Amino acid sequence: MMQHSQTGDAALVLFSGGQDSATCLAWALARYPHVETIGFRYGQRHAVEMECREPVRHALASDRLGEDHVVDLAATIGGLGQTAMTADIAIAMQDSGLPNTFVPGRNLLFLTCAAAIAYRRGLRRIVTGVCETDYSGYPDCRDDTIKAMQLALNLGMERRFVLETPLMWRDKAATWALAYDLGGMALVDVIREQTHTCYLGNRTDRHAWGFGCGTCPACLLRAQGWDRWVAGRDPLLREST
Ligand code: ZN
Repeated sequence: MMQHSQTGDAALVLFSGGQDSATCLAWALARYPHVETIGFRYGQRHAVEMECREPVRHALASDRLGEDHVVDLAATIGGLGQTAMTADIAIAMQDSGLPNTFVPGRNLLFLTCAAAIAYRRGLRRIVTGVCETDYSGYPDCRDDTIKAMQLALNLGMERRFVLETPLMWRDKAATWALAYDLGGMALVDVIREQTHTCYLGNRTDRHAWGFGCGTCPACLLRAQGWDRWVAGRDPLLREST
């Protein structure tokens, strides 16, 4: 049954189980009375991140949190060729200046699928944790790309979606700070214990900032952001971390 009206303050959050999307989920729950989540299987090397989704949803659950949608894009993205994100290839920089963890078109597909679900569910706001500030320069995370996608999706589906990117101009330290502002140390603890960012799927090595190998690009960003956030805090608060 298609829904032909949109609820202005209902949101769909692209939720991977990582730090950024968990922060976005908390942000949306603080702001909108109805929030659903969507996640994607795309042949990730490690299922760890997907396995973190349900515990994080459970930890953040309130009467505002609605359905979870999981879309399987493994065959689609797998059929487009391998990258270090989807195959057991060492992470390295390429001549293009992009790391080989870049999956061409991935976020564009994610946003298109999210809009299709949001269309069917009557959700107007689509929230994604992409960030231009502290990233590997993925072109599909840029503000211009997201604005262009919003226009394309609204024209192509004849809707008035609003693509929201609360982390676009925040570095990782500011993302930890946002979590603290939204939910205090309780939320920071959920994010550091339950979310997963490490490209290598490491859930055995525990650091102040959470689990991970500590050396892959995703771990380095998360760790450096944590250190900067902790260093910038009030000394009394610092002791509690
Ligand atoms: Zn790692």
